[in-house]
Amino acid sequence: MRLDTPLSELPASHRVGPARRAAFARLEVHTIGDLLKHLPMRYERIEAPTTISELKEGQIARTSGEISATRLSGGKGGRFSKPGRFEAVLLDGTARLDLVWFNQPHLTHRVLPGMRLRVQGKVNRYGVGLQIVNPVWELIRPEPEAEDRPTSTSAESTEPRADPHIRPVYPAVEGLPSSVIEKTVRSVLPSVLDQIDDHLPEAYRHARSLPELKAAYRMAHLPSSEAEHREARRRLAFDELLLLQLGVFLRREQVRRGTIAPALTWNSTIDRHIRARFPFTLTPDQDKAVTEVAQDLIRPVPANRLVQGDVGSGKTVVALYAMLMAVASGRQAALMAPTEILAEQHFRSIADTLEGSKVRVSLLTGSLSDRERQDVLAGVASGSIDMVVGTHALIGETVQFDALGVAVIDEQHRFGVHQRAGLRGKAGVDPTGKPMTPHTLVMTATPIPRTLALTLFGDLDTSTIEHLPPGRQPIVTRWVRPDQAGEVYQWVRTRLDAGEQAFVVVPAIDAGASTAGEGGDADLNDLRTVHARLESGEFAGKRIAVLHGRLSAQTRDAVMHRFRAGEIDCLIATTVIEVGVDIPNATAMVVEHAEQFGLAQLHQLRGRIGRGTKKSVCVLIGEPGNPEAESRLRAMVETTDGFVLAERDLELRGPGEVFGSRQAGAPPLLVADLMQDRELLALARRDAQAWISRSPDLAGPDERLLRARLMRQHGKWLGLADVG
Ligand code: ADP
Ligand code: MG
Repeated sequence: MRLDTPLSELPASHRVGPARRAAFARLEVHTIGDLLKHLPMRYERIEAPTTISELKEGQIARTSGEISATRLSGGKGGRFSKPGRFEAVLLDGTARLDLVWFNQPHLTHRVLPGMRLRVQGKVNRYGVGLQIVNPVWELIRPEPEAEDRPTSTSAESTEPRADPHIRPVYPAVEGLPSSVIEKTVRSVLPSVLDQIDDHLPEAYRHARSLPELKAAYRMAHLPSSEAEHREARRRLAFDELLLLQLGVFLRREQVRRGTIAPALTWNSTIDRHIRARFPFTLTPDQDKAVTEVAQDLIRPVPANRLVQGDVGSGKTVVALYAMLMAVASGRQAALMAPTEILAEQHFRSIADTLEGSKVRVSLLTGSLSDRERQDVLAGVASGSIDMVVGTHALIGETVQFDALGVAVIDEQHRFGVHQRAGLRGKAGVDPTGKPMTPHTLVMTATPIPRTLALTLFGDLDTSTIEHLPPGRQPIVTRWVRPDQAGEVYQWVRTRLDAGEQAFVVVPAIDAGASTAGEGGDADLNDLRTVHARLESGEFAGKRIAVLHGRLSAQTRDAVMHRFRAGEIDCLIATTVIEVGVDIPNATAMVVEHAEQFGLAQLHQLRGRIGRGTKKSVCVLIGEPGNPEAESRLRAMVETTDGFVLAERDLELRGPGEVFGSRQAGAPPLLVADLMQDRELLALARRDAQAWISRSPDLAGPDERLLRARLMRQHGKWLGLADVG
């Protein structure tokens, strides 16, 4: 018997019939090796044996007694008959216990009145009595043909012997209950355990207090104590995380090896000059981020760093610092935003900051005339332009840079690895003529979850700005029921009359949470209804405009322009306004059907206000239909801290939902849990990083197995080159 032996080729003593094999196949278990990887999802504690009278409902219990009567019903005859049901009554002199087995009619010939049985299973109440459905059982005086050996007397069990008080519970499918999987595992495990080779060197395992792989599998399937299955889980979860992280770092190493970047200069003079440009002192968080970024940029290796920080935390300063480092080193810098309006906003604020300096900054957007566009492109190509701000089209093939040093990508969580690949070679050539790749910074206001996913599945380093700059006006958030909408809008009207501006957000089209689903004008109904109501009601006479994803990008930008220029009082919008536009005069936001939005989304939306010196108010109108939705609204009222909200989001939705690892193409984690195993993840990440820098090809003689398993697991989706 070997790990790759198919279940169909097991010797007669371990035979798995065709029906069972088909069921195993549905669990993607085809070989013995697959079977061992089919790990228990949990463990049940089995109580010490008791008399029947002592049994309690809900326990997993063991007891014994004598069969007094049996009965077979259903299962035969027409196709509408119920599944076969075999019942037996067990007595031990203290009380009666009913035993019920489904789909096992052959038991009529094997469980007979007068026999003494030991049984084990979950005790249920059934009418006035107690019963166990599908108990594991054995004859107390075993007979030769008894095949259904219960787990508790498994004679062939390996050393150390499994504790019968702990039973694994396996993910099961119809026709293949956990107990059968358990029995199959028990029957094959001892013969193959020694064939499981460890891909981690002993010294390393020792240093991390990790059990050997074969021991981990034994302890996962046949634990002799709770400590054992916990230890097994720790090893197997760690393996998953370590392999994943090794893959991520290996990829990074391979990418890096093929690419060089211009090493920028950083010294106290440059630092002083750059800082002198800002009308404020950097916060400690900004200082730290700046240092981390600068240390990346002075290396001849393309940086890939994520700067994350809540909306308004001052990420742009960090980006501009990096861009100015490029210029100070005689290189160019580019800043890319997801929309034209954001690009313009950045351009304006950068131009302000750099006013009177020698740095030449240009804006490149679709609204330039052909002539203007040609001029900018020529300037970028010749190097007469130091900094260019634009949309993501900037990295398109057509834009030639003279010597791009730093590329900053703002507010874009959908900006993928492939797009970044477009930057390759845009940094000119090094003295030996080799093409160079610029350093990349990605700024995101999407807090922990998605960025943790990026850390996991991408190849980015991260810097975090946790605290907002001083002196911000906190945003007040209220949650009201729909019947109070009238009062809310009347109050907003008073703000509009005072010359301030407001957003009204509805969950249509791009909301994702919209109940109307995709496409169709029905999606726009909310927006239209609210528009009609406000136009003829509370906001009569005010200048109202709508904004949604069905409008062309140009129209949307035009509307935003007018809003920012103060030509519109109230903007009724879908979540297209989610992304970071700065409108200091917008001080009120009303979110309709707030219960339909995700927490992260609500937080992003709220970030559109509170950007000026006036006090801002956000009102959530919502009628949550479930406790989770209610928790979201409460969380919004309680805090404006994006990191707190991100944690709350994780608690409410669970990491699976939040991380979406499948989207990234990564194989799912089967044992590890990103929430529960955060420490293990951090350890795996540290180790993987050190490992790859020590052994960048994983080509050592004792790394062969590790490398093979890594390639099998992650080679494809990470695009790893196998040079081993
Ligand atoms: P975001 O992280 O959302 O991109 P910005 O970089 O746009 O934030 O900064 C938000 C506002 O905070 C800007 O008006 C900026 O001038 C201001 N700001 C940034 N850093 C500081 C600081 N250290 N002290 C005071 N104001 C700051
Ligand atoms: Mg920003």
